[in-house]
Amino acid sequence: MLKTRVPGDLVEIREKVYAGERLSFEDGCKLFESNDVVEIGRLANHVREKLHGDKAYFSHKYRLYPTNICVYRCRFCAFRVSKGDERGYEWPAEKTLHELEKVDLTGVAEFHIVGGIHPDWDFDVYLDIVRELHRVYPDIHIKAWTAVEIDHFTHQTGKSAEWVLGTMREAGLGSLPGGGAEIFDWEIRRTICRTKCTGERWLEVHEAAHNLGMKTNSTMLYGHVETPESKVDHMLRLRDLQDRTGGFRTFIPLAFHPDNTRLKHLPRSTGAEDLKHIAISRLLLDNFPHVMAYWVTETPEVAQVALSFGADDLDGTIMIDEEIINAAGGKHVEGAMTKSRFAQMIREARRTPLERDTEFNVVREY
Ligand code: SF4
Repeated sequence: MLKTRVPGDLVEIREKVYAGERLSFEDGCKLFESNDVVEIGRLANHVREKLHGDKAYFSHKYRLYPTNICVYRCRFCAFRVSKGDERGYEWPAEKTLHELEKVDLTGVAEFHIVGGIHPDWDFDVYLDIVRELHRVYPDIHIKAWTAVEIDHFTHQTGKSAEWVLGTMREAGLGSLPGGGAEIFDWEIRRTICRTKCTGERWLEVHEAAHNLGMKTNSTMLYGHVETPESKVDHMLRLRDLQDRTGGFRTFIPLAFHPDNTRLKHLPRSTGAEDLKHIAISRLLLDNFPHVMAYWVTETPEVAQVALSFGADDLDGTIMIDEEIINAAGGKHVEGAMTKSRFAQMIREARRTPLERDTEFNVVREY
């Protein structure tokens, strides 16, 4: 009988994974040091299948970016422009509702809303967007504003994160997306986004949301100037908070795209690196229900393979205006990703496609 080859440096980790034991900081660093992506993926797939069998989720959502005008200048960001730039746009509540009249929102489960920190928009502009969307589309879940935006609102209003989140929730906010986390470690953060909220503050905002009973997502931006240690530290800080609150739903490793950014000299991560990050996330974040492969940044082909490297979710359909996609990074996403294309993509990866809502209730089996 053929025996599976297990590289020496991963033997102990393999035993821990099969015994259901939690991995340590040192284990996480070892995984990043290892070049055996196939073995790391195999271990992550073991965990993924224990949790989800062959199920693979996607959702039908609509993304909104109300403005690309932003006071911050994160070095990895190709989306933001300064006030006065001809590429700038502003979609406060009335304009957003007007634009949505042109869109078929049948079956859409979620509005996913993030954007720039506009220098002239006060808290009420952002609040109105949520309130008006909820008034006109009460059945569509609103997942809006990263912890960076929530932190900004606390400075604008002089109120606590709890107050801001509670006020937003009364207006119709359902949950928080995971953006703005980047890398928590200040040594890295000060190089890539020194002016926005700290990693500690990001975690505080999410803890406040969890304490109000709100679920949130989390992300990690990799492929820039981060170190393996800073990535393991990032994930373990999320794991610690999850131990306390249980409020995270999904972890999303995000591959950095250098084009049109102030870090454009850096190379783009490879498909193998993308798969490794997904697999290590699944192994370290043992208390997270879901790990997502974000097909927009990783390509649909890598996302398909990711479904056997720890990921169980592929995010959602894209049905946003091309003008906005262009503004959000200067790239065209090739055509809309429809529900049937998603289902086919998942079936090709030998998984069972399930359309879900924000809370992972199954809307339809394919
Ligand atoms: S990442 Fe967000 S906060 Fe940073 S510059 Fe871009 S839009 Fe502004």
